[in-house]
Amino acid sequence: MSTSTVKALVGVGIFAIFVAVGLSLRLGPSATAAPSAQSGGAESRRTPADAHSGSTPATGGFVPAYLELHESGELAERARQLWAMMESCNLCPRACGVNRLAGAQGFCRAPGTQLVVASVQPHFGEERPLVGQSGSGTIFFSHCNLRCVFCQNYQISILGRGNRTSIEQLATAMLELQAFGSHNINVVTPTHYTPHIVAAIDVAAARGLRLPIVWNTSGWERVEVLRLLDGIVDIYLPDMKFASADEAAQFARSPGYPEETQLAVLEMHRQVGVAVPNSNGIVNRGLMIRHLVMPDSASGSKEVLDWIAGNLPLDTYVNIMEQYSPHHEAFNHQRIARRVTADEYRQIVDHAHHLGLTNLDSRTARWLRE
Ligand code: SF4
Repeated sequence: MSTSTVKALVGVGIFAIFVAVGLSLRLGPSATAAPSAQSGGAESRRTPADAHSGSTPATGGFVPAYLELHESGELAERARQLWAMMESCNLCPRACGVNRLAGAQGFCRAPGTQLVVASVQPHFGEERPLVGQSGSGTIFFSHCNLRCVFCQNYQISILGRGNRTSIEQLATAMLELQAFGSHNINVVTPTHYTPHIVAAIDVAAARGLRLPIVWNTSGWERVEVLRLLDGIVDIYLPDMKFASADEAAQFARSPGYPEETQLAVLEMHRQVGVAVPNSNGIVNRGLMIRHLVMPDSASGSKEVLDWIAGNLPLDTYVNIMEQYSPHHEAFNHQRIARRVTADEYRQIVDHAHHLGLTNLDSRTARWLRE
């Protein structure tokens, strides 16, 4: 589908139809090959697209970190290292140890080395510094290593709804989002497909990709894997979902989540630093943390904010989200089978204010003025 076609669809107001069917138009069934075959060597890295190695209009002069790694061949090498980790899979802290190279499935249910993508779309509902005028170029991956009982996308994350996609097709999707004018490539729930995504960035970089990569993650990442993303990801967008092991175990089957996510967030901050918008209000690099307030303090909001204020700069970008609503199995847990009250939410925002956190998401900060 061409860029002009996409824009025309937006113009006549049937963009939602594009969102629903666009992927199936572009991404047919296909086997996923190892990155050595997909990424190619130096020859495939040097294409006419490299001649314009600058930025796109949507990024306002920004040049993504991965270009240098692509040119040197390091990006392809990182993809190969990550791919090899699937032999006894420890791509995430779940560390199932299954052989995905032989087709086995671990807890996340990713089908071996097959890549499954649920949707590709410019998204206008993300944080404003990611959305700008033209949207965040969102690629939503199927399956998940957490499986929260309240997941609002469980058809995708747990049931695995999506399309088998090759690395080449994923790279093409990235380039189509760039052609549309998206400000970034926003990979959603990427962890269990980290090797595929890095390989696709390498392919897409050879064909002219110049947008920053947003790693839109549950936050539950291994530091060892994050180190392999150093110089590839420009924007980390992690959740910090829970403060206590008990609640992380009860609601996401991962008691180690709080501690492991804290280590991961520190590594993310080390790599990209504080998110600072450019003159157009767009963030091209930095750490942006999300925290979802849950009923009855089930996500430990005050403790999460205490940790951020105590371990990261006070101008760390924090989006304190109010939109929790019960989905999936949440109705089996009476404590979280309702929405958050305005008073519950305001208490958390006030707490952030008292801690001295200065870079709250604009939608969060609005509550401080009311
Ligand atoms: S990515 Fe999936 S298979 Fe690999 S360790 Fe995590 S949950 Fe297990």
